[in-house]
Amino acid sequence: MKSKIIVTGGLGFIGSHTVVALHEAGFEPIIIDNLSNSQLSALDGIEKLIGYKPQFAQFDVNDAPALRQLIEESKPHAVIHFAAFKAVGESVEKPLMYYRNNVGGLVTLLEVMKETGLTDIVFSSSCTVYGEPAEIPVKESTITKPAESPYGATKQMGEVILKDNAPWCNTQCLRYFNPIGAHPSAEIGELPLGVPNNLIPYLTQTVAGIRESLTVFGNDYDTPDGTCIRDYIHVVDLAEAHVSAVKRLIDKSYQNAFEVFNIGTGNGSTVLEVINSFESATGLKVPHTIGGRRAGDVVKVWAETTKVENVLGWKAKRNLETMLRDAWNWQVKLSK
Ligand code: UDP
Repeated sequence: MKSKIIVTGGLGFIGSHTVVALHEAGFEPIIIDNLSNSQLSALDGIEKLIGYKPQFAQFDVNDAPALRQLIEESKPHAVIHFAAFKAVGESVEKPLMYYRNNVGGLVTLLEVMKETGLTDIVFSSSCTVYGEPAEIPVKESTITKPAESPYGATKQMGEVILKDNAPWCNTQCLRYFNPIGAHPSAEIGELPLGVPNNLIPYLTQTVAGIRESLTVFGNDYDTPDGTCIRDYIHVVDLAEAHVSAVKRLIDKSYQNAFEVFNIGTGNGSTVLEVINSFESATGLKVPHTIGGRRAGDVVKVWAETTKVENVLGWKAKRNLETMLRDAWNWQVKLSK
């Protein structure tokens, strides 16, 4: 019998890729998603990739009775909790919506897990908890900074809530750097609603002619070419990190009930390097102009990956050009 894994937010960008990776690793994913920032078409893409439609339940993680019923019926071994809002700007405008969904949703999930005797969870955290990092590359032990947005606060609170519940709850807390790309088949990928906030969907939509020009937010930072540095990671690598974390929970090979890992490549790239890399990966030009700085942007951040490699046994395999080529192939498919 395959171990069942509940994936909240399993039709979202990272969730859908993780569902596929779980299947490939011999698990049976069960998806919960309220479709607030995802589409049912992701389920069709998943079906094409894994050969069957996985169990999908459409409800909000704040719906405790629905959650309880699903857990009691399916008896999963662990939960991967993606379901959360993720737009920094929106969180400033609608903080309560963020606290209700991201913090309230986690609390509800944990309450139901505790009641039903389910103890293992993988949590989606973010390198945003480091703020402008006190050291680079960023280690898991690098001090976290006060959050600069309600979104960032919800990730920090999520970590605290899970740590406080360590007496009964085992957590693999994954701090993602910048997930980009798409499945190489172009069957699943990112589906941003409206005008994208993030660099890669804006870039690919610009090249596809949906947007006029990409604005590079500032070129006067203290970096080699003046643009900000991020650690971009292929979403399939990130999905595979979740599989490693689930295995660690199921095998009970963790050393502590609450463990945290940086999930990045360990390499930083500037915005201009991303543009150049996209152009050499695809042979296409990226129309772009230099604009002003974006409020709240961290100047440079990339991951120290020694801990995740040594302890979790996971390492990113796909390079920046592969990420950008896969992101472009997905955009081409979307634009058809
Ligand atoms: N960025 C940019 N133009 C855009 C969107 C983003 O120059 O239209 C830059 C942004 O300033 C940052 C990097 O691209 O340096 C990554 O931004 P993104 O929003 O994708 O991720 P995050 O800010 O969360 O790291």
